[in-house]
Amino acid sequence: MSERDEVVVALDVGGTGMKCALVRPDGTTVHSERHATTAQRGPEAVVGTILDVAEGLAGKARADGRTPVACGIAVPGVVDEARGVAVWSANVGFRDVPLRELAGTRLGLPAALGHDVRVGGLAEARLGAGRDAGHVLFVAIGTGIAAAHVVDGSAATGAHGAAGEIGHILVRPGGPRCGCGRTGCLEAVSSASAIGRRYAELSGAPTTAAEVADRAAAGEPLAVEVWQEAVEALADGLATGQALYDVATVVLGGGLAQAGPRLFDPLRRALRERLTFHREPRLVAAGLGDEAGCLGAALLALDTLAKESR
Ligand SMILES: [Zn+2]
Repeated sequence: MSERDEVVVALDVGGTGMKCALVRPDGTTVHSERHATTAQRGPEAVVGTILDVAEGLAGKARADGRTPVACGIAVPGVVDEARGVAVWSANVGFRDVPLRELAGTRLGLPAALGHDVRVGGLAEARLGAGRDAGHVLFVAIGTGIAAAHVVDGSAATGAHGAAGEIGHILVRPGGPRCGCGRTGCLEAVSSASAIGRRYAELSGAPTTAAEVADRAAAGEPLAVEVWQEAVEALADGLATGQALYDVATVVLGGGLAQAGPRLFDPLRRALRERLTFHREPRLVAAGLGDEAGCLGAALLALDTLAKESR
């Protein structure tokens, strides 16, 4: 424990809820709380809630005898980390919101703004399943598919804040339509929503990806077919990822990773078949669960502090 018991105010803002915590520099959480985002109130109201919650957490830290030293916020969508601006987000409604400056001013603390999946990858690479790997690809598979390439503990943001969109690698030209407007993106075949949708299309019954996994494991032919299609497309996407990034470890997170060996065993085989001279990455399940975003936001804020004090 540091002498002054320093903590970072960390928030992970999602479309439905906000995970919030006070995190020590070593990555341990000393307090956590959850709040509803209620995005339908509009971006201004959401920003108001973010700032109120962050201020409340800083106050809670002081009341408990701790010293808040920085604030880290993670949001979905396109995030310009260098400028600290939430550029665009479909599910929270942000358009060019200068969240870092707003939070810094309200709290009187240095602040950092990060992309939810990128900071989640940062946390998995430094504290979770990718620990000590150096080069890590974190892939979150849920309603969509997004990724973060982490090198020596820092996640690449890209020139426009949009690095890691491996969900939109073209894997099935002419395939199912993707939310981005094109057809055949990885996300349109292998995301949890796509798997449920595909099975429902063929069977006429609404079904979740978890149910498809269960039915495939029980040997139901239609489920086996849909699950296999998704696994193979995912292996195509990961093989492309490995050609681009040559990572030591691929960490899979999000809802689909909870399928465990039902996903990892066939995926490992399919990925191995696709690799020629590329080295096979270790394929592991995420270790931090839904706290990754919050921990990553804290790490990003601490990195910012360290840079400023240099
Ligand atoms: Zn797409």
